[in-house]
Parts: sequence; C-alpha cells; structure tokens
Amino acid sequence: MTTVINNLCIIGTGLIGGSFSLALQRAAACKKIIGAGRSEKTLQQARQLKIIDDYNTDISAAVKDADVIFVSVPLGAMRTVFEKIATGLKQAGNEQAIITDAGSSKQQVQLLAQTIFAQAGKYFVAGHPIAGTENSGPAAAFADLYKNRRVILTPVKNTDKEAIRQVTELWQVTGAEVETMSAEHHDKVLAATSHLPHLIAFGLVHCLENLDDIEDIFRFAAGGFRDVTRIASSDPTMWRDICLNNRQPILAMMKSYKDEMEMLYNALQSADGEKLMEVFEHAKQTRDKFTH
Ligand code: NAD
Repeated sequence: MTTVINNLCIIGTGLIGGSFSLALQRAAACKKIIGAGRSEKTLQQARQLKIIDDYNTDISAAVKDADVIFVSVPLGAMRTVFEKIATGLKQAGNEQAIITDAGSSKQQVQLLAQTIFAQAGKYFVAGHPIAGTENSGPAAAFADLYKNRRVILTPVKNTDKEAIRQVTELWQVTGAEVETMSAEHHDKVLAATSHLPHLIAFGLVHCLENLDDIEDIFRFAAGGFRDVTRIASSDPTMWRDICLNNRQPILAMMKSYKDEMEMLYNALQSADGEKLMEVFEHAKQTRDKFTH
C-alpha cells in the first residue's frame, strides 16, 4: 500500500479513533499519526499501545501540520473540540486541512462544522462507521474493527470533492465499504437500527434492577437475555450524548415501539394467541430476510 497521507491527527484515541489508526498503520497509509484529547493518561496509553506515534494535549497545537484530522470524541465534546481545531488551523494557516468525524448522529455535527470551520465547513466531511463494540478506550481498539463494515458519509453541496475522495479512500484502506447519504436520512435510519435498540437494552436492565430477585435474574441469565442486553454495557456518556443529539428521530421511533409494546400487552392480556403468532411470524420472517 502506498502512503495516502503524510500527517494524520486523531482527536479522541479510544475505540473508534484507535481502531482507525491501527487499521491505517497496518496498511502503511500514513507517515505520521499524532493523537490529541482531554486526558493525558489516555494519550500515554494510546502511545504505549502504538496507536499513535506521539501526542499533544493541546488540540489547537496538535492539528497545526495535519493533512487530515479525525475527530472521535463523544458528541457532547464536539463543539469545544471543533472550536480548538478551527483556532489551531487558522493560526497555522492550514485551513484547507481535511476534517472528518465518527459521531453517531450527523445533523447536529454538520451544523456545528458549518458554523465553526472556515468556508462554512468546506473541508469537513461528516462520517459515521457502522461498527463498534460495547467497550471503550484505547485498549479496546483493534485493527479489524472496520473490516467489511459500512461507513456512512454525509457530505453537503458545499463539501470539497477532493476531501470526500480522500476520506473515502482512508476508510476503504481500513477495509470498510463507504456509502453516502444525507445527514437527515442517516439520523432517521440510525435512530431505528442503533439508537432505539440501545435505549431498549438500557431500559430493560434498568427496569429489572428494581425487581426483588435481581440476583437470580442475572445468575440464570440465558443467551436471549445476554443478546438483548449486551449493549447496555456501552459507555453511558457516549449514549447520553447520542440521545440528546438525535432527539426527534429517536422520540419518533420510541413512540412506534411504545405502541407496539402496548399492542402486544393487550394481545397477551386477552390471551390472543393468534395475534401473538401473527406478530412473531412476521418479525421472524423480516429478520431472517434481512440478516441471511
Ligand atoms: P471512547 O470513549 O473509546 O473514546 C473517546 C475518546 O475521546 C477518549 O480518548 C477520550 O479521552 C476522548 N475525549 C472525551 N471527551 C473529550 C473532550 N472533551 N475533549 C477531547 N477528548 C475527549 O469512545 P468511542 O467509542 O471511540 O466513540 C467516539 C465517537 O465515535 C463518539 O462520537 C461515538 O458517537 C462514535 N461512535 C462510537 C461507536 C461505538 O460503538 N463505540 C460506533 C460508531 C461511532
């Protein structure tokens, strides 16, 4: 693999940023990778794990010579981080550096980029890898995270074409398949496929917590319980931020789900086995069709 870029700066060297870096290093796609973030301890750990070559706790200084800046911090930290990047790039006269992110919701991030970065965010390419685990931090990062997974980019009319091409190429190097769609469509689709399931998992475990026999519930937890609740071990800060950033699409999905639960509740209350069969059969057919 020939080098795609010289200097990459990763802000937030946790699961997502760390895995991006490891995958690019494996392909020898970048000459130098600098990390930046809030916690020096995390950055030191990232350097120890060879996720980054070096780090700088000052984000504005870290981006000075970057060709590409990859932002993988929780959504609630994006505004502050974007402002520090913009300051650093302006001071260094490097405002044509390409900036991209991995945030799990896209409309709010896109809006921030348009208001904070030079030329209404012309060199910002919003992105979201549809890959992850319930673990976080540098130690959770691994080079294969994006292999055969999808990455969604949500560029706008103003986005620089060469920036889109470079970000696409970097993701392809990690083994991912890149798709493009509007930020609005992304947020609606992800509310249904990722954000609602996380709320269900968090809500289910939380609801069981209040039962008297909680010890036995977890002791005898079978595969089904583990499958449905695995993602309730995800990082609470990250998920609070995702929910707050994608409120309306998530609320719409929660309403549909609430109605569905109520319908199932009524069917069971009236011992309507036919209705239950109808719903379960439909659900099974739909899942089998889309997952096989
Ligand atoms: P993580 O906790 O593993 O890593 C986040 C990193 O950001 C850490 O290094 C942390 O030190 C740093 N950070 C936190 N607050 C900061 C701040 N205020 N300023 C600077 N740095 C800060 O999280 P992650 O799973 O890598 O997620 C990062 C981003 O990727 C989030 O926006 C998330 O929505 C998105 N994402 C996560 C997943 C997933 O499954 N984990 C999947 C796709 C996208």
